[in-house]
Amino acid sequence: MLVIKVGGSAGIDYDKLADDVAALVRDGVRCVLVHGGSSLTNEVATKLGHPPRMVTSVSGIESRYTDDKTLEIFEMVYCGAMNKQIVERFQRRGVNAVGLSGIDGRIFEGVVKGTLKIVENGKRKVLRGDRSGKIERVNTDLIERLLDGGYLPVLTPPAVSRDGEAMNVDGDRAAAMLGAALGADTVLFLSNVPGLLRDVDDETSVIRELRVGDLESAMRDVAKGRMKKKVMGAGEAIAAGVGRCVFGDARIDRPVRRALDGEGTVITP
Ligand code: ADP
Repeated sequence: MLVIKVGGSAGIDYDKLADDVAALVRDGVRCVLVHGGSSLTNEVATKLGHPPRMVTSVSGIESRYTDDKTLEIFEMVYCGAMNKQIVERFQRRGVNAVGLSGIDGRIFEGVVKGTLKIVENGKRKVLRGDRSGKIERVNTDLIERLLDGGYLPVLTPPAVSRDGEAMNVDGDRAAAMLGAALGADTVLFLSNVPGLLRDVDDETSVIRELRVGDLESAMRDVAKGRMKKKVMGAGEAIAAGVGRCVFGDARIDRPVRRALDGEGTVITP
């Protein structure tokens, strides 16, 4: 079982990704794709006069402040344009993909945070009205049925709260939890960088291998900004029984095969 998370940052080549995933599906590999959409969301939100507000939590993790309007834009982009364009790419390649959000079938279920404790200009603040949340469980029943029926599930945030409300969640951590729930041997995190870089500005500085015990220091010393979520996700996935995680490049030819061959950063237990 293979879970592939593809990001939403600039430079990602979804056609190359779809070529590669389609070939794997034809070879009979059971896989699920989870995607992001951050860069298009930022673009659309800015055009709609509601630009993104990125905030840093007291523990130093960056996330998007998600008020009602932001959640609406988020759904338009992630569940709309991004999800349907990815599904279309597979349909063109003869792969019967089905696009679903975490609300559908309660795939990703959790709790809304409501308030965010953040640090801004060195000061602690509490932001209310936040519609983001934390996934507590992954309901795999629908996904298993789709896989058994020969479909390729293409999943995206948001998730759903226990009370049935949509909530924004991080795609990397959603993919990690999905990998754990499905008993995946591998979770790939494909993005617009060749792996976890020792120096963010030097693409040749890829850290080739990490053991799960190295992740805490990698979080602290190496991963900046949104990369921290991937490192957290990888740690959570491995702690929950996933065999290995790979941070690979989604801008190149054969991005999935190459990540499976260990190109990028390979994280093992
Ligand atoms: P995606 O939306 O594709 O999942 P993110 O934007 O969430 O990707 O995370 C990838 C980004 O993380 C890179 O574009 C890079 O700018 C940033 N980053 C921060 N620290 C690192 C690091 N040490 N190695 C690689 N990328 C890093």
